[in-house]
Amino acid sequence: MGLDQHGRTIDYMRISVTDRCNLRCLYCMPEEGVPWKPHDAMLSFDEIERLVVIAAAEGFSRIRLTGGEPLVRLGVVDLVKAIHNTPGIERVAMTTNGILLPKYAQELRDAGLDRVNISLDTLDPEQFKHITRWGNIDDVFTGIDAALEYGFNPVKINSVVVRSLNQDLLAYAKLSLDRPLHVRFIEYMPVGDPEGENGCGWSESDTIPNDELIEIVNQRAVDAGLGELVPIGGDAKPEGWGPARYYQLPGALGTVGFISALSRHFCSECNRLRLTSEGLLRPCLFNDMEFDIKTPLRAGNDEQVRQILHDALSSKPDEHHNRIGTERLMSQIGG
Ligand code: SAM
Ligand code: SF4
Repeated sequence: MGLDQHGRTIDYMRISVTDRCNLRCLYCMPEEGVPWKPHDAMLSFDEIERLVVIAAAEGFSRIRLTGGEPLVRLGVVDLVKAIHNTPGIERVAMTTNGILLPKYAQELRDAGLDRVNISLDTLDPEQFKHITRWGNIDDVFTGIDAALEYGFNPVKINSVVVRSLNQDLLAYAKLSLDRPLHVRFIEYMPVGDPEGENGCGWSESDTIPNDELIEIVNQRAVDAGLGELVPIGGDAKPEGWGPARYYQLPGALGTVGFISALSRHFCSECNRLRLTSEGLLRPCLFNDMEFDIKTPLRAGNDEQVRQILHDALSSKPDEHHNRIGTERLMSQIGG
């Protein structure tokens, strides 16, 4: 394995461990009415571990756990440990909203988790409550402190930017000044059915293209006397598995990154497969093609698991061709 049919090396798997969450971000999950999958419809941790063993033997070396909120699923620390101990797996990471990090940071580090991405879309407590529907921003700040205290490296802070929210982008970039935090602006992606009955109502016009965002942040930094954003590359960039463009505010300990799935898509550098919590392998976030890997995993048929892994790989489209609507919510795919 290793290469897909478009010549890309695919060695990174994003594994969603649950579709549930302790928040309800407007753009990700409706407040009510999400049909939760029953527990036995989700892959057990034993099944995920088995898949990781097979995937590692086929060349996958990096795993990220995501969701829903991965830290709400009981036993996730043990899963991290098992994945970390799998021969061939070099790095284990997690994307989390950070709320339960103070509780689990130490255990996760001990279990072998290297790095965390923490999602935080605003620094304003009221706006945070609005976006997440009930979250308390102080919980996330405490989660960020815990991530730094226990030595996760890098610690990245992801913010989905939406035109109509009018977030304070400079305040966010300034988080990178005094601590080694790598803040990243992420283009909003209208996945699921955002303009449908239970959607957040935002459309593609709510996405601020990265080039525009960089200009806005740069101008605000200059106006505030902080200097211009300096592009950085090579070793100065935080290590990552994705396609962010990185900059630094002069003298900052951390960096400011920009991730664009739409305006400058990175399909030619795509390196990943996604696994949903109910055991469907998804070759592309923006394409509803999925492969049932739960059935052979449950049947203990390793050969078929391997075959489906190959089928999913060889079905990766060359790019999303600007078709970005999906039938599922982000929380159901695993963001
Ligand atoms: N609960 C965890 C968290 O919030 O980090 C992990 C799952 S969440 C689905 C993963 C990431 O997807 C978050 O950073 C979230 O902001 C992002 N996300 C969700 N819906 C999105 C959308 N429509 N466009 C862009 N990013 C989105
Ligand atoms: Fe939960 Fe993360 Fe989705 Fe927010 S973005 S609702 S924290 S899964």
